[in-house]
Amino acid sequence: MDKILINGVIHTMAGRTVSALAIRNGHIALAGSDREALALRTADTEVIDLRKSCVLPGFTDSHMHMFLTGRSFERLDLRGVRSPEEIVRRGRDYIRSRHVPAGAWVVGYGYDHNQFPNPVLPDGKVAQAISAEHPVLLDRICGHVGAANPMALRLAGFGPDTMIPGGELDKDGTGNLTGVIREAALDLIKTFEPKPAKEELECILQEAGRRFAAAGLTAVHSDDLCPEGTDWDTLRAAVSDLETQGKCQVRIYEEWEAPHPEQLRPILKQGLYSGWGDDWLRLANIKLITDGSLGARTAFLRAGYQDEAENRGIPVYTQQELDEMTALCHNRGLQVAFHAIGDGALEQCVNAVEKAMAAAPKPLRHRIVHCQIGDRGLYRRMAALGMGADIQPPFTVSDGPLVEPRLGPERAAESYAWRTLLDCGISLGGGSDSPVESYKPLWGIYCAVTRRCGTDSLPWLPEQRLSVRQAVSLYTSGPAWLAHAEDRTGTLEAGKLADLVVLDRDIFTVQPEEIKNLRVLRTMAGGRVTWNAEESGGQ
Ligand SMILES: [Zn+2]
Repeated sequence: MDKILINGVIHTMAGRTVSALAIRNGHIALAGSDREALALRTADTEVIDLRKSCVLPGFTDSHMHMFLTGRSFERLDLRGVRSPEEIVRRGRDYIRSRHVPAGAWVVGYGYDHNQFPNPVLPDGKVAQAISAEHPVLLDRICGHVGAANPMALRLAGFGPDTMIPGGELDKDGTGNLTGVIREAALDLIKTFEPKPAKEELECILQEAGRRFAAAGLTAVHSDDLCPEGTDWDTLRAAVSDLETQGKCQVRIYEEWEAPHPEQLRPILKQGLYSGWGDDWLRLANIKLITDGSLGARTAFLRAGYQDEAENRGIPVYTQQELDEMTALCHNRGLQVAFHAIGDGALEQCVNAVEKAMAAAPKPLRHRIVHCQIGDRGLYRRMAALGMGADIQPPFTVSDGPLVEPRLGPERAAESYAWRTLLDCGISLGGGSDSPVESYKPLWGIYCAVTRRCGTDSLPWLPEQRLSVRQAVSLYTSGPAWLAHAEDRTGTLEAGKLADLVVLDRDIFTVQPEEIKNLRVLRTMAGGRVTWNAEESGGQ
């Protein structure tokens, strides 16, 4: 036996609590009593005394962007800047201290001009003051508006006559670009930054993995194969390298954005399907984005916005287009993860899956990512189709104040309705959408259980709060089911992968307010320690 863990409060999430686990070859050999486990001890067994700490299955984030999160740690950090001068200062320091070679992109993130004495959006001049020898792009905290210097604009081919659907390039009085760019134009310019080569990607994945392990994560469902992300071949090569060196910290279930049939072609040509891969990297889903966001009033609704009655948001697909894309994936064994926020978008997705399933029933678990606005009728249809939902509990806290003004009380009551989704029989995974929200699962669990922003605020739709057990399932057994991995992960039982997290106190007995303050003492993936607070001197 490789390792034996004793004297713990081990919640298997499979209906029982035990005190010991025995681990061999990366798998759990036994979940039981200390006596049963110690009976398996051999000369080379490492015995770990858990000193009554709480053990759960390792956490899985069911929707995030690992690559973008990892890269955000290396970006020019502009959070908290107080003036355009400070942006320039930090930018110049960044280039100097990191020896960024001329011609390489400098991307800054996180400024909020409302914090400046004179709250004017930084423009191309600010970016140019950082450097004229580098393409410089500054991204506001919201990600909807930014600023680019002339070199960045030139590399993207942006000029005074450029038209970008859904995007804007601001101009001054004489018709010249100011460098301020908005929405789709900002998304587009980001794609001109060269993709990292394999070695750089390995560094990014390792840095993200180190932080994820410290937060108790052992797996992520990650959407990285997108325009500003990376590509499948580089990702596979990078993970395989890390795997050979025993350096993988989290298992990756990859989502692949393929909005049109021509983007699906290479996937189909390689014969890929959902579940293809090994325990460190698998292809999980094809991601189809079907609408926008509630904040920007682009989420597609069945009826107009409460605060803008003639607007119903923007569907990305017609029903027929979505039916065709869904059938194409479904028939080749590819599960679809549909980004749907509005009830209009959700209805389109459910219609499409209904048609695909009726034509060719398959045990696929298509899912709705976000699934924020809907009603029981739609949720029941989802459940009947075996669809899952991928919810982001931290959004309850950040979007909460927006929901009623946008939707009115009636629609708001069945939206972000995690308990209603469960009552309707839908399997749920919990995600962070990191880097949008914190990737820390304990924060997500806290948000799902309390649905409140701060200690003083009241819970939002308190009847939709989840029990601690339900909330823990969002990050353990729920994502395992969504990925068809319930026979390998999600609970602590003999035969499963030894993926687990050790917490300083019992999540089931502390006050809900304390869940966000629990400390991750140790994380193991495949029986290997990926985080140890004692060795790393705290989080
Ligand atoms: Zn996302």
